[in-house]
Amino acid sequence: MDELSSISDILLSLIQEKMSTSPSIFNLWFNEFKLSSLTDDKAIFTTPSAIKRNILSTKYQKFIAESLEEAIGFPLEISIVTEEEFKNPGAAEAKAAAQAPYFEISDQKRDEDEEEEKIIAESISSPTNKRTLLDDYTFDNFVEGSSNKFAKAACYAVAQEPNTYNPLFIYGNSGLGKTHLLYAVINHMKKTHPGINIVYKKCESFLDELIKAIRNGSTATFKEKYRSCDVLLIDDIQFLAGKEQTQEEFFHTFSALYESDKQIILTSDRPPKEIKPLEDRLRTRFEGGLLADVQPPSFELRIAIIKQKADAMGLTVSNDLVEYMAERLQNNIRQIEGVLKRIYAVYSLTSAEVTKEKIDEVISIIDPGNIPTDALIEKILASVSKAYGVPTDQMKSKKRTDTVANARHVAIYLIKQLTELTLKEIGAIFGRDYSTVISSLDKVDKNIKTVNNYEAEVNRLIKEIKGL
Ligand code: ADP
Ligand code: MG
Repeated sequence: MDELSSISDILLSLIQEKMSTSPSIFNLWFNEFKLSSLTDDKAIFTTPSAIKRNILSTKYQKFIAESLEEAIGFPLEISIVTEEEFKNPGAAEAKAAAQAPYFEISDQKRDEDEEEEKIIAESISSPTNKRTLLDDYTFDNFVEGSSNKFAKAACYAVAQEPNTYNPLFIYGNSGLGKTHLLYAVINHMKKTHPGINIVYKKCESFLDELIKAIRNGSTATFKEKYRSCDVLLIDDIQFLAGKEQTQEEFFHTFSALYESDKQIILTSDRPPKEIKPLEDRLRTRFEGGLLADVQPPSFELRIAIIKQKADAMGLTVSNDLVEYMAERLQNNIRQIEGVLKRIYAVYSLTSAEVTKEKIDEVISIIDPGNIPTDALIEKILASVSKAYGVPTDQMKSKKRTDTVANARHVAIYLIKQLTELTLKEIGAIFGRDYSTVISSLDKVDKNIKTVNNYEAEVNRLIKEIKGL
């Protein structure tokens, strides 16, 4: 690998982290983006098409510039051009002058959605032996655990035999694999049901398309498109909330498909009853099929996911460090992936061993609120010590004056609130057993109820410690 492409790789990982968007959106804009020239005062990036060049330079330039500075250690002027413009710079300048400014924000967003859907639509209709973006998301590489087993089985069942459950409604927090499952369904159906008419749409872009159709007087075409599909997948349906006209149109589409036994799969970041405001008749329809949730992954599942993803990258991480990552990254699989990619970027360039320090550093960038437990305890003790004027070593000592005991109770209470430590582990910090911890927790609870301003002070400390 030459130097430019190594730097390109690192940059891409850094940019992806900063954007914290889905891999599909990221790939959409950055899959063929690369660093093509690097001199003392300028970096030139290239991308194949003018539309990508426009989006990258209006929307993502800041991320690109910041990441470049992070990778090479100082800021540089950057320029983004098409591959053709790179080969023929004179033409590029003339064109740029004629074109600026590129887009209004809203048009840009629409272009982006359209471009993404286009790529997915192309993937859907491309032959099964041709690799596409969708191939990264299959049932095979979806690691199963108790938190997602049911949703996966339900998706697999409809992919195998559409209309087994209709509609299928998958819900759960962001970053837990809902879109992955939808893509896996598409992949699978393409193989098991060749020629089947699958339409995948992000809810926001469904809304957008509808508005455009109304504006252009082309609602008939819109209706035809959605009512003639065999399988309709709408991602992030919670965006229907409060959009009356779209709900109305969606209801008719839904009913037409449903009545002709066409498979509908929806995802949402919350269950139907929490999507508000939503017409009752839609809610009833959503709840009328199968509801399947994805929950945050258990410790075991996080370990399995980290191992699978590290293996796929060819990244060696010791078991201890895999466990360490799994302990620190509890709620979001997208974040786990982000951390691994970033570590991989450094590793691939320097072959540096993966260390706990590196993991800590990457996590602190990706998720600044996520502090390692040891550091968090230090921070709690320091804050309590400052607030009550009691040195940390006195809190840990046998001293029992009111001031010292109170500071100790509060510190114990905060550690219990803010960490996952067990009562026994908390006791050990103070050289005491778990029954002391329980009695401290009780005392703070009681003081919160009876002592003026006690609760406000505890809350202030929590905010201070969390850096809010
Ligand atoms: P959501 O749509 O729920 O926000 P995504 O489907 O975009 O989440 O998942 C985020 C990232 O995590 C994706 O790259 C996806 O491949 C990965 N991921 C999520 N769950 C799993 C899993 N069980 N096994 C492997 N990868 C997963
Ligand atoms: Mg998603």
